[in-house]
Amino acid sequence: MSEQKFKVALVDCNNFYASCERVFNPRLENRPVIILSNNDGCAVARSNEAKALGIPMGAPFHKIRNVVQKHDVQVFSSNYELYGDLSARVMRTLEEMAFDVEIYSIDEAFLNFSGFSLLGLEEHCHKIKKTVRRNTGIPVSIGIGPSKTLAKIANRLAKKNPRTRGVLDISEPRFNKKALEMLRAGDVWGVGSRWARKLEDYGIYTAAQLRDADIRWIEKKFNVVMGRTVLELRGIPSIGFAEPPKSSQSITSSRSFGKKVTAISQLKEAVASYTAKAAEKLRARGLLTNVISVFITTSRFSPADSQYQNSASITLPEATSDSTMLIHYAFIILDTIYREGYRYHKAGIMLLDVVPIRGHQPSLFGDSKKQAKNSRLMKTIDLLNKKMGSNTVRFGAQGIKHEWRMRRERKSAAYTTCWKEIPVIQAV
Ligand SMILES: [Mg+2]
Repeated sequence: MSEQKFKVALVDCNNFYASCERVFNPRLENRPVIILSNNDGCAVARSNEAKALGIPMGAPFHKIRNVVQKHDVQVFSSNYELYGDLSARVMRTLEEMAFDVEIYSIDEAFLNFSGFSLLGLEEHCHKIKKTVRRNTGIPVSIGIGPSKTLAKIANRLAKKNPRTRGVLDISEPRFNKKALEMLRAGDVWGVGSRWARKLEDYGIYTAAQLRDADIRWIEKKFNVVMGRTVLELRGIPSIGFAEPPKSSQSITSSRSFGKKVTAISQLKEAVASYTAKAAEKLRARGLLTNVISVFITTSRFSPADSQYQNSASITLPEATSDSTMLIHYAFIILDTIYREGYRYHKAGIMLLDVVPIRGHQPSLFGDSKKQAKNSRLMKTIDLLNKKMGSNTVRFGAQGIKHEWRMRRERKSAAYTTCWKEIPVIQAV
């Protein structure tokens, strides 16, 4: 990756869930809005007006009842089917306006603009912002930088500073110097509160101090991931495309196909693979999901093809990280949205409303014996894949030939090339 040429924009929907509610209820404009989580009744999203009232993220509803009454705060239960659908519409618009789109979470996407004429980029992003608003009703902010981490920071500033009109490019060091001095190290993408405390123990409080830290020392005291963050802050791209650090609220897995796909059987293989991969991530992080969403789309860049996109979400009967169960529901969605006669270019899945296993109330009606057996099976599969290389054991539904797979993918990660020759053990 060349330093000069890498150029990335992060598009982030403003107060996404609250904005979704506003799309179909304009009465909510300029009023404080909060969204509650399904399970424990905490505020999981707030409009700017609600933030201004001092309602903290994750506040239990019973603790903010007074503020809610006093200021007539509009309160909603989360509606993940709606959010998932609007998310897909936002992403679809982005795909129309950029070649390389990496969906990072339900409301964020990285756009790869490497090689784009630099003069026109900010203007183009203003156009993207306007088009997303017009097509979906959702307001977004866009940050541009020479690395993903700097694009994240640019996005944050674009959101906070009205003078930017929602788009900011901090590719030039003179534009990000002050920003990094003002930003706490713990607020840098991927650092987190635990590392932030350790950094402070060594006297590193700001993003600028982290940028200027000795890389070898950072790698020794922390890890290589933190080392990459330091490089990213210096404007040296070190986190590639489709290789994001973890996001906790939602997990996405999607890819463009190596060649166009028409048969539902091939779409199913792809969707099963993405789902298995996302479920493995859930389990590795001790998480469960309540909602799964699937999308399929043809390519805007093949104008000769008839165009079709669709997506749908299902709220699961019970929070789960079981691959078999998730693939089952993903197929139900796929059967619903699939239309024959189109040449599909991309498919993806999103796990929404992700919650930690700890503190999760199992359903009274679930079959606990079957669940325990499945959970042992998942553990064994994860262990084997970890030891023997990704995809050593996979689900029958994932298929073997994978003709839809992206050509580029075979080249990139070492683990796929190394272990590609290993015979597949059919687990289910
Ligand atoms: Mg957002």
